[in-house]
Amino acid sequence: MTETQENSSSSLSGTDAAIRQAVRDRLPSTIADLSQLVRLPSVSWNSFDPENVVKSAEAVAELARGTGIFDTVEIKRAAIEDTETLGRPAVLAKRAAKNGRPTILLYAHHDVQPPGNAADWDTPPFEPTVKGDRLYGRGAADDKAGVMAHIGAIRALTDAVGADLDLGIALFVEGEEESGSLSFSNFLVDNREALQADTIVVADSNNWDTETPALTVGLRGNVKFTLTVSTLAHASHSGMFGGAVPDSMLATIRLLSTLWNEDGSVAVDGLTTYDGETPDYDEEQLRQEAGILEGVTPIGRGSILSRIWGQPSITVTGIDAPSTDAASNTLAPTTSVVLSIRIAPGQNAEDALQAVEAHLRAHAPFGAHISLAKFELGNPFLVDTSGESVRAAKQAMADAWGVEPVELGIGGSIPFIADLVREFPNAEILVTGVEDPDSRAHSPNESLHLGVFEKSLLAEALLLGRMNAQTSGE
Ligand SMILES: [Zn+2]
Repeated sequence: MTETQENSSSSLSGTDAAIRQAVRDRLPSTIADLSQLVRLPSVSWNSFDPENVVKSAEAVAELARGTGIFDTVEIKRAAIEDTETLGRPAVLAKRAAKNGRPTILLYAHHDVQPPGNAADWDTPPFEPTVKGDRLYGRGAADDKAGVMAHIGAIRALTDAVGADLDLGIALFVEGEEESGSLSFSNFLVDNREALQADTIVVADSNNWDTETPALTVGLRGNVKFTLTVSTLAHASHSGMFGGAVPDSMLATIRLLSTLWNEDGSVAVDGLTTYDGETPDYDEEQLRQEAGILEGVTPIGRGSILSRIWGQPSITVTGIDAPSTDAASNTLAPTTSVVLSIRIAPGQNAEDALQAVEAHLRAHAPFGAHISLAKFELGNPFLVDTSGESVRAAKQAMADAWGVEPVELGIGGSIPFIADLVREFPNAEILVTGVEDPDSRAHSPNESLHLGVFEKSLLAEALLLGRMNAQTSGE
């Protein structure tokens, strides 16, 4: 037993022990309910049958009603931003806090990614299958396990405290996270009051490994746009003018090359870096996980995880140019590329865009004309880890897993978190998860580690139990 377990067992040991027992007793039925959700192919993309997302919303609403603790359980939709079209159905359940207790908002999503090519799956994607320690199926981890972690934690809490449940709980299970959360910000505005909470748990991230829990404390933001470089009013024969006339491809290649240093790190003034501690992760692991070819070196500087979590990166993800088959001896007048830029936690996406645009304008070679269009901006996320809920969540994880949690950074982004921060600036946001590095969310053979699921569910139930015993603002 670790020291942290001893400390906590002195204060709330009775409730904690009852919660542990309830989580264990109910685990088989919780996994059975999760399996039923996995059977519903709730893909939220437009090209898939929207009726399946409606059915999974109904199934989640039924599970919420089954807990017996909510004053209201509703299936709701909001308009997609700048349209009158409604987004996919979300489930919103609410019980008010009593006796001065705080309110917690539990978020997950019930929609899933498309299954992709059926031939790439070892088991049918919507037929939940247990093999060894893992439950396979689309959504088994991302994020139907998040949904069931919330439901399971509420069930264990009610088993343990019975009529002494004073904690305010809002449950918000979104139906379109995998298709871009297009109505999310309107949903927050429409349901502001019901969603108001002291602490928000977003159960849609990762753990360090199957033995080590993690709290996600940093997410990079993103800036994406199309850059167009023009040098000529029309194309010309390269034999006629080549050598005297700058073609747009030459200008683009020269311009893009100024974005990186020799070692591949980003060379744009004004893009900031976040200095946080990072766990050990060596080059060999990076080479294996990313499939870096023999003899090819990694790029960047500093510890490997600091490059992925705390530093900016720039990637050219698309280019409009004549294909190699259609290539003729021509000086191209105009070239367009897509730049995908990850920005460090702590920097505003607008500021980052300005820095990159200023760099491009200052470095355009031969006086080439440049223009930027089709912007996509997402702010990064950085948790203030000194908050009381962060401390309590880390303690609950340590107690549930028997191992201290890692503070995790994520190189990608969860765009809707910026919406939560904007609408609820005073709430503490805890990004937790039920996944582990082998979960393969979004890929064929997605799976949930059942041991990780039990420990994550227990950690959340312990957190709820302790908040239930705490006076608001304490
Ligand atoms: Zn997810």
